[in-house]
Amino acid sequence: MNNKYFTIQQAAEGIWGAISVPGSGSLGNAAIIDIGDLTVVVDTTNLPHSGALLRQTAEQLTNKPIKYVINTHFHGDHVNGNQEFMESDFISTVWTRDLLSEMGKVNIDLMQQNIQKLINSLHQVRSQEKNPHMLTEIGYDLSVQRALYDAIPSLRRVIPTITFDDKLVIKGAKRTVEVLSYGGGHSLSDAVIYVPEERTLIAGDLITNKTIPVMPHGNPYAWIRILRRIQRDLKVDTVIPGHGDVSTPDKILDVIRFLEKTIAYVSEAATSGKPESYWLNEGVLNGYEDWHLAQYFRWNFRWLFNTMLVQNNR
Ligand SMILES: [Zn+2]
Repeated sequence: MNNKYFTIQQAAEGIWGAISVPGSGSLGNAAIIDIGDLTVVVDTTNLPHSGALLRQTAEQLTNKPIKYVINTHFHGDHVNGNQEFMESDFISTVWTRDLLSEMGKVNIDLMQQNIQKLINSLHQVRSQEKNPHMLTEIGYDLSVQRALYDAIPSLRRVIPTITFDDKLVIKGAKRTVEVLSYGGGHSLSDAVIYVPEERTLIAGDLITNKTIPVMPHGNPYAWIRILRRIQRDLKVDTVIPGHGDVSTPDKILDVIRFLEKTIAYVSEAATSGKPESYWLNEGVLNGYEDWHLAQYFRWNFRWLFNTMLVQNNR
């Protein structure tokens, strides 16, 4: 069942995570749920190629039609494989549907130009980097971006047709799927999928495992509130995170702590009077140096630092 893009990790009876192989180009995790009479797929990875393999794997594992595909949020590494599921109905929050729809048709030239810029800046960062873990992560990122660059001419946007605000329930013959949204934290609108019978949570990027959570354009304060609500309201034994291996619910607390520490660190930096460049040279926050996507800590820092500077100057 494993392939070059993802490994299959069983989370519970009838539930599997398709866990992205670092550097393979698939980037985001996906999940497969056998609800008894039908199959539900959550997220579709970063590439049409890996999306096609996800569909084949889901069909082999469950031997049932994939009736529904849920997009947890609008980021490319969770929706770019959508086009490989044209027999399925797509579900998302209203806001995620609107965001995908407003992005319009794929603009091949513009997207490739932007990725080329990112590739150039990754080369630049790599040339000045000495930390071996960071060099590995930047190498992974470069191969992901090259794979996406090559895939863009074949990319088609697929917009969900079934939408919900805060809760949608799919009742299968064997198990129930609750699609829930508590608003936006990681993105403008994030959904999680909860399977109560198996006490399993498919978290999208609200929860990552030993992977730096990507913060820009989200709302870290709302994100913490959402995670606390999940801790309080849902009985969870197993988490399929948006990035990293299938895990236990202590990863929820790991992300809360990361967000709290980052907010505290950046707010101290923003009142220090020292320039952004000084802080960027300091590298990744203590304790998180060995997490995946370590290179995104700078991006988080820069975004939050500048947001806070604007607020402090009001
Ligand atoms: Zn995301």
